[in-house]
Amino acid sequence: MSALKRVGDAGRLLLDLVSRDPPFVRGGGLNPHDIPVFTFHSLEPRSFERKMRYLREAGYQAISMNAYLDALSGRAPAPPRSVLITIDDGRASTWTVGHPILKKLGLRATAFLVTSAVHDSTEVSKTIAEVETLEWGPLVARDHAHGRPFVTWGEVRAMRDVIDVGSHTHLHARIPISSITADVMKATMQWGYGVFDCPLIWVNGREIRGREVPLGTPLPESAPRLSGSPAYRSIDDRYETPLEASDAMRFDLGEARRLLQEKAGVDARALCYPWHVHSEEARWIAAEVGYGAGFAGKATSGPAIAKPGADLLTLNRVGEDYVERLPGPGRRSLLSILREKLLRGRHG
Ligand SMILES: [Zn+2]
Repeated sequence: MSALKRVGDAGRLLLDLVSRDPPFVRGGGLNPHDIPVFTFHSLEPRSFERKMRYLREAGYQAISMNAYLDALSGRAPAPPRSVLITIDDGRASTWTVGHPILKKLGLRATAFLVTSAVHDSTEVSKTIAEVETLEWGPLVARDHAHGRPFVTWGEVRAMRDVIDVGSHTHLHARIPISSITADVMKATMQWGYGVFDCPLIWVNGREIRGREVPLGTPLPESAPRLSGSPAYRSIDDRYETPLEASDAMRFDLGEARRLLQEKAGVDARALCYPWHVHSEEARWIAAEVGYGAGFAGKATSGPAIAKPGADLLTLNRVGEDYVERLPGPGRRSLLSILREKLLRGRHG
């Protein structure tokens, strides 16, 4: 990592700390009825178990999505020291690592699934609870493997005793927003969650993305489908109409709800916006197709921790790195977390 990039990363971390993260991250307290929502993606066994153990030992309860929404809409208060654990994308480690640890510790979480990525199979893989520590490697590495980097529908059904299921849209789609080339197709965008980085494009008259896009293909500037930007259609050299854009959003949002019902019997009321980006129209369509709550990422507007009566379609979350900054005995120092984040070179 270059010195310049390190300075840039450190600057962004500090800006997030003062402007986007809630006060408990900086050493402040937590109001008794505040319910912080934490965002996870790939789960690493030791780090995930350490964070979950911290919650339990510090007296926090990881509540269900229904209990969280009941509390925010004023239907029923949640117990003091409640938190909501959310896991994005439905990567394989949600099942192989997350499920056994949550179950062992008596905690709940919510997984937001990309329904086009869930493997259409009834197979249920072993978890880290079922094999020796020495054999964890392939189960943990499944997130990055070519085989089954996401959960199967069989695993989705099996996880529901401790993991609630929500929607992360059907495609997690990016769309071209101009004819300007911004990137070229790389091998990392052909499989796993790398596919999400490849925008939908038209090649030989067909709309394709991910594995179907040949390596080296120029990729246009792109934006998340729910950002509200119209797609630039290279196939007929025009921007899509507002009606075409809203139809595409309606499909991406509605198809996920339909498949979750059909494949797992889930009435998914909670949505997580891909890339944490949403427009007013996307929120409107989400409500229209049946979502009652929408989660973004770090607070760019609105509070970092929502209060009862908040707009449930603009809920913000906190990065997983700060679970151990919650007030409690053995609270981890902010400096050690920031050092780890900078070394890892990513930002929650
Ligand atoms: Zn995602």
